[in-house]
Amino acid sequence: MAGKEKRKLLELRGFPISPGVAIGKAAVFDEAGPEEVPEYRIPPSRVDAEISRFKHALNQTRNDLATLIKRIEEDLGESEAAIFRVQLSVMDDPTVRSDIERLIVEERYNVESALSLTIEKFSRLLSSVSNGVLKERASDIRDLGRQLLAKLMFDESADLWNLEEKVVVVARNLSPAITVRLDRDKILAFVADSLGPTSHAAILARSLEVPAVGAVRNLAGLIAPSDILVIDGSSGLVFVNPPKKTLDHYRQVKQKADARKRLLAKLVSLPSVTADGEEIQLMANIGKASEVAAAIKAGAAGVGLYRTEFPFLSHREMPSEHEQFAMYREVAERIAPAGVTIRVLDVGGDKFPPYMPVPSDTNPYLGWRGVRLLLRHKEIFKTQLRAILRASHYGSVSVLYPVVSGVEELRMARMLFEEAAAELHDEKIPFGQVLQGAMVEVPSAVVMINQLLKELDFLSVGTNDLTQYILAINRNSDSLAPFFDPFHPAVLHVLKTLVRAALHAGKPVSICGEMAGDPLAAPLLIGMGYRSLSMAPASILQIKDIIRSSSLKECRRIAHDALKKETAWEVRSLLEDSTSELTATTTPKDSSE
Ligand code: PEP
Ligand code: MG
Repeated sequence: MAGKEKRKLLELRGFPISPGVAIGKAAVFDEAGPEEVPEYRIPPSRVDAEISRFKHALNQTRNDLATLIKRIEEDLGESEAAIFRVQLSVMDDPTVRSDIERLIVEERYNVESALSLTIEKFSRLLSSVSNGVLKERASDIRDLGRQLLAKLMFDESADLWNLEEKVVVVARNLSPAITVRLDRDKILAFVADSLGPTSHAAILARSLEVPAVGAVRNLAGLIAPSDILVIDGSSGLVFVNPPKKTLDHYRQVKQKADARKRLLAKLVSLPSVTADGEEIQLMANIGKASEVAAAIKAGAAGVGLYRTEFPFLSHREMPSEHEQFAMYREVAERIAPAGVTIRVLDVGGDKFPPYMPVPSDTNPYLGWRGVRLLLRHKEIFKTQLRAILRASHYGSVSVLYPVVSGVEELRMARMLFEEAAAELHDEKIPFGQVLQGAMVEVPSAVVMINQLLKELDFLSVGTNDLTQYILAINRNSDSLAPFFDPFHPAVLHVLKTLVRAALHAGKPVSICGEMAGDPLAAPLLIGMGYRSLSMAPASILQIKDIIRSSSLKECRRIAHDALKKETAWEVRSLLEDSTSELTATTTPKDSSE
């Protein structure tokens, strides 16, 4: 780890990803691992000491892994901890251990270099084989090597998932593989070099209500572990070791925000209706069964989107029908009498579970994704449909098909659904009525919306992907983030078309992309005709506040005016003016203001 002679004072500008202010210590997670591994030869007299350093690091890492496994098993279930059990077994593999010890004893390498040479050798060996599972094992070994090296070098960077205090997570790239491991109670904020506005880490930040800033270039070189950071997630500013004046200013901003949160909490039991009495259903988006608690706490009218990818991505094998059933049942039971909409697996693009191989593609977001990918792996698809159907015996459950591009896919999905239901019927396994809906995220689905509606029970509009595919802008790209705008008039006209089509067909429609939880968007969407919005539980009360302060008449006027605008900037300006008028009139008065 590079030494830190004096604390640098810096102001960095990135892209705002999740609003709010956080002040705290940096924990720098460098995926590449410590840059410089000290390499030297030791005298014979040091051999025993080096071996005992190695054993000590092994024990510490073993304890860390055991704690982590226990925590994940408790929080998320046994299957989620599988990656780390593999790491534990790699650590106890006698071949790996004896190789390291041999290099220390016979070649007199210091333990850090013995370790890094061995890790390099085994991971290269495994990476060169064609078997996908063994290839994955190579990254487990590398990961484990990083943790051991961090222990040896007192580097805090590789130790992110066993943190003792709350920290600001600083990372080059916050991939799903990293975010899955973080101890959520220890995260104050995220700062990343590469982090798109609707990436899964961004969605996680918003659901945890922690600020996040992306597109902070070269941050690993600029921020050192334990630097004090101030993160302003609303403006995209990051202050490194700021002066007292800045700290004081942001402490005040934070206090005001906390006071506002306390006021918002009072809205939980109040109905979600506009000032002139129109009811708006506010639902929760969740990614794990355990998040139902947050949905209930925020007074959600149900789970409007249950993203089921998490257990499929966090371990090597597909979760069994029984494991899936147990998770879905838990959500259905806990949210009852309200309902849950379970979205079938939406992978592809940048992440494929190892058991769902596809030909490699130069443009994966236009390739094997969502329902298209599931139809290529029918057994996986049917297993999940069976698990969802079985959960419907215990609560009100709907199923949602992601990234549907047309009628053919929908028919094939429905056929598989019927097959799954027929099987369960023959096996005398109980299940209830399950409504079937499609995510509208692809322009072709918009064009075919009337035909799709004939074969669907409901629609859910995924504005994250819809924006990506309408504007041809990768949603995960931080350099394109300023252009990725769901307020682009083209997106707004599509949203209007969709709500009109659904109302005409008499089918329910909701919005479940990040836009649904954006305070600027709420009056606009309501004015267009949407009556159901599904968002991170953390956004629900703020949106309820806006709804209760607005009248349907004003919302319709806003939508009418917004749909006449020609650029996203014009739309945003209009909404900013209108929303500030709305909240200024009826937001409970904040005594600290
Ligand atoms: C969307 O695309 O808007 C959506 C809700 O799905 P996801 O963000 O999971 O792709
Ligand atoms: Mg989507």
